[in-house]
Amino acid sequence: MFRKSKADEIRKFFDSPIAKNQLALFYLGTSGFIARTTSQAVVIDPAGFLKGDEIRALKGVRLILFTHNHMDHFNAGKTQDLVHATGAEVLAEDKVVNKLKGKMPDDKLTKAESKKTYTFGSITATAIEGIHRGPIMLYQIKMDSLTLFHAGDSGYVPLKDYPSEVALLPTGRMSPTASPEKAYKMASDLKPSWVVAMHGSAKQKQQLSSKIKESLPQTAILIMEPYTSTTITVQEKA
Ligand SMILES: [Zn+2]
Repeated sequence: MFRKSKADEIRKFFDSPIAKNQLALFYLGTSGFIARTTSQAVVIDPAGFLKGDEIRALKGVRLILFTHNHMDHFNAGKTQDLVHATGAEVLAEDKVVNKLKGKMPDDKLTKAESKKTYTFGSITATAIEGIHRGPIMLYQIKMDSLTLFHAGDSGYVPLKDYPSEVALLPTGRMSPTASPEKAYKMASDLKPSWVVAMHGSAKQKQQLSSKIKESLPQTAILIMEPYTSTTITVQEKA
């Protein structure tokens, strides 16, 4: 499908100044995000969204994470391009790792096991097994002093042990396991200051938004359009 390159938007995203208590997010679509703090950047579930000059517009990406091997989350060829251009390491569910073996340096490829925490420079990522058609890993990612949670397109699993300031939560379509209700339950566990609705129809994202506004007054919710960015300011911890 023809799509105009968004390399300029990506360049702007990386060039815009942010403060220590801020997390900048660039939404690629489905469950795909680029997240950056003042000193770190990660890409999560980029599928085949980034191409050519868009990949070359990425700056300082240290880590690429994949929740599972479905095509709306992972594309082996595009991952090779990403790793080649950025030099980033990959943390991924086992099936993704198997598809990347031999296609990228072994020492940059890490298999995520549930409840284990992995360190990449000053980034740490904890994997948590989710529920989906086939295996899926969710991630709690700590970058600088900020904590970000990414729930793939999983159904509900208990997440009370992983409180996070920003939660990227799947609301449904085309996932057989995600729904606005399950995302709401995840938000209730994670107690984030911010939720970003992802992986769902406009209606499902609205349903999550309404539910959060009604029942989790401490949590703000964002609905982002693909290929737009936002900067989230997180409260400084006392
Ligand atoms: Zn999906």
